[in-house]
Amino acid sequence: MKLLFIGLDGLSFDIFEEFPMPFLHDMSDEGVRAKFMSFDDPYMCTGPVWTSVQTGIRPEEHGVTEPGAAGWHTAAFKDNVKTIWRRMNEKGLSCGLINYPVTYPLRPVDPFVVCGFPAPWEHEGTQNPWDEVQFGGELFWPPELKEHVGGFRSAWMNYIPPEEYEDTHEPYRAAQEGDPESRNYIMALLHRSLHETARLAHILLRRYEVDVGVSIFMETDTLGHLGSAVPAVRREEFLHEVDNVVRELVLDCNPDNVIVMSDHGCWGQPHVKEGIFLAFGPAFGAGVKAEVEVLDVAPTILYLMGVYEPTLPREPAYRVLKSGQVEEEAQGKIQDRLRAMGYLE
Ligand SMILES: [Zn+2]
Repeated sequence: MKLLFIGLDGLSFDIFEEFPMPFLHDMSDEGVRAKFMSFDDPYMCTGPVWTSVQTGIRPEEHGVTEPGAAGWHTAAFKDNVKTIWRRMNEKGLSCGLINYPVTYPLRPVDPFVVCGFPAPWEHEGTQNPWDEVQFGGELFWPPELKEHVGGFRSAWMNYIPPEEYEDTHEPYRAAQEGDPESRNYIMALLHRSLHETARLAHILLRRYEVDVGVSIFMETDTLGHLGSAVPAVRREEFLHEVDNVVRELVLDCNPDNVIVMSDHGCWGQPHVKEGIFLAFGPAFGAGVKAEVEVLDVAPTILYLMGVYEPTLPREPAYRVLKSGQVEEEAQGKIQDRLRAMGYLE
């Protein structure tokens, strides 16, 4: 794998700095630890930002501009909007996407896509939490992927809550208001969906030997939204688990380079502008502290993959990249560095 791209939705730069995420801290000390500067309101939210990350253009240009999840679907894309996955496919590079936001209704990417939030995962005995988003579209490419995906849900909203709750969102609302049982219920779902997404990433990224592997985790955003309704010790525990999940994916995939980023920060109800952009590997500078903006990401990824063409509004973020030519013999390098850091025998 040439690039492993991991998204931790809504993870604030401050929260990342404050809580123990030992692997991500070590990795970004040795590589890039940048503030990710999200859009200003009204676009400081999941749909518009992740869509700009995967297209390299602003929300007004790609069309995903709504503040609410009901407007976050690929049908909103304007004509001729091309994702970086399509661009890379056209150059013969393979990309596997797990849970990337705003990939439903599905547009195939080779070799696979598991549609991400807010894809309407249909299950018996419950209604579609996203009434406005139409049912019935394909959730996977290729269709036979369904066998491996099993009971995967792209977000906690797609789990059926216990009977005492009126609707899917009620336990979340009650948790925010401080009800401990509801909080425990939501935290249990977050643990479950974190690990289900990770399990799927391990299975699929191993099965398809992709050039670019992409896995996005939404649980960090919900944790941020719960704010102080979750005691600090539980938050710490959860973020530590997220850190483990990332470490295991990096060790399992053995990519040449890794990017771990969020789309905005989040604490309590409002989103905050400063998220994270962490990167590690022979293509990136070491000990770089910088800022990365939304539109920088797409050209940077294309550049890393050797297929950048100056057709996007921004240039690659050269300030986070290693200056000069990236050595040809990148293979094995990240392993050597992880070994030196004590993460590999
Ligand atoms: Zn988000």
